[in-house]
Amino acid sequence: MTQATIDHQGRALDIERVRDDFPVLHQEVHGAPLVFFDNAASSQRPSQVIETVRRYYERDHANVHRGIHTLSQRATEAYEGAREKVRAFINARAEKEIVFVRGATEAINLVANSWGRRNLSPGDEVIISHMEHHSNIVPWQMVCQATGAKLRVIPITDAGELDMQAYRRLFGKRTRFVAVTAVSNALGTVTPAKELVRIAHDHRVPILIDGCQAVPHMPVDVQDLGADFLVFSGHKMFGPTGIGVLYGREDHLEAMPPWQGGGEMIDRVTFEETTWADLPNKFEAGTPNIAGAIGLGAAVDYVNDIGLDAIQAWESGLLEHATRHLEALPEVRILGTAEHKAAVISFLVGDAHPTDVATLLDMKGIAVRTGHHCAQPVMQRFGIPATVRASFAFYNTPDEIDRFVAALKKVIPMVC
Ligand code: PLP
Repeated sequence: MTQATIDHQGRALDIERVRDDFPVLHQEVHGAPLVFFDNAASSQRPSQVIETVRRYYERDHANVHRGIHTLSQRATEAYEGAREKVRAFINARAEKEIVFVRGATEAINLVANSWGRRNLSPGDEVIISHMEHHSNIVPWQMVCQATGAKLRVIPITDAGELDMQAYRRLFGKRTRFVAVTAVSNALGTVTPAKELVRIAHDHRVPILIDGCQAVPHMPVDVQDLGADFLVFSGHKMFGPTGIGVLYGREDHLEAMPPWQGGGEMIDRVTFEETTWADLPNKFEAGTPNIAGAIGLGAAVDYVNDIGLDAIQAWESGLLEHATRHLEALPEVRILGTAEHKAAVISFLVGDAHPTDVATLLDMKGIAVRTGHHCAQPVMQRFGIPATVRASFAFYNTPDEIDRFVAALKKVIPMVC
C-alpha cells in the first residue's frame, strides 16, 4: 500500500484530499501532531457534514411534518431526504423500513421492548453472543427479566471467533429471537453475519444484526444479508451524535406496537383511544433529531463519494500494516486474531495497565481507547480487565501507524 492512494476495483482513495476534509485531524496534542485511533468509539466528521448541519440551522430550521410554511417544508424535505439516502445506502426496500432513533442503543431497546414484550413468554429463549457490546446484551437481559424468557449465549473461541457449531446447537423449540453483532468492537472480529441469518431463518427465528462497526466500514446490503433488523449509529459513520438507524423489515415493523407515545406517532387521539401513525412515524415519537438526520444524510453522501470498497480496502491495508508491526514487539499481545477482522486492534503490553499505556501515548499525541469497551463479557472470556484499542478509519495512514508504533516502543520500557 502506498501512502498517497490505493487502487481497488478501479476506485482510488486519495488520502491527501480525504484528510483535508477533516479539520479536526489537523491539530497538535501535547505538542505532537494528532493521531486519532479511537474511531470505533466515535469517528470524526468531514467539513461536508459540518457545513450541511450549519446551513440547515442558518437557513432551513423549523419543526418537521406539522407545518405548511416554507421553512417547515424545507426541513421536512431534508429530513425525509436523509431517510431516502439511508434507505438507498443499505438497500432497504422502502423508506418506511428506516426508523430514525438516537443511536444503535436506542434501536436495540426499541426492538427488545416492542418486539420482545409482544412475543416473548416465560421459558422462551433469545440468543446473543459472548462478543456483544453491552447495548446488545442489557436490553435483552431486561426484556428477559420482564417476560420470563432466557438468554442463551454463543461462545467465542480463543481467536475471538463465534463458535458456529455451538450456535447451531443453541436452537431449540423455545428459541424466539437472535441478536448478534456483525463486527466486534472489542476484538475486531467480522462475524459471518449472512450465515448467522441463514441459520436463524432455517429455524424460522428472526434476527437482529448490530451493524455499528460494520456499516461505516464495509458494504452492507440488508436485502442480501436478509436480516430482519439492522441497527447502527450516525456518530460512528462520520455523521452527528444523537442520530442512529433502525432498519426493520416492513412486516415486522407493521406488527410491532409503538414503544414510546407522544406527538408524531399518532393518527387520532381521544381520551378513550389512540390509533397509530403509519410507518415509520409510529416509532418516531416527539420532535426528532432533524439536524442529526440531515447530517447523517450528508455523511452517507460523503461515504458514497469515496466508496465503501475503497474504504474497506484502505482500512484492511492499515490493519495488516499495524498488525505486522505490533506482532513484532515481544511485549505486545493482541487480543482477537480472527481470520476476518475489521480495522480494530485490541492489545496488552506486558503486565502494564492499559490506562498507563494510553495515557503515555496521549502525551505523544496518539488517541487510543482503553477499558472494557462496553464488552465486559469479552474481557471476562479472556480473563483480563481491559485492553488498549487502536481502531482505524479511512482517513488514517500507514505513516500514522509508524508513529504510533515508534511511540509505543518508547512507552514499553516505561511500563514493563
Ligand atoms: N454496538 C456496537 C458493536 C458498538 O461498538 C457500539 C458502540 O460502541 C454500540 C453498539 C452502541 O452504540 P451507541 O452508543 O452509538 O448507541
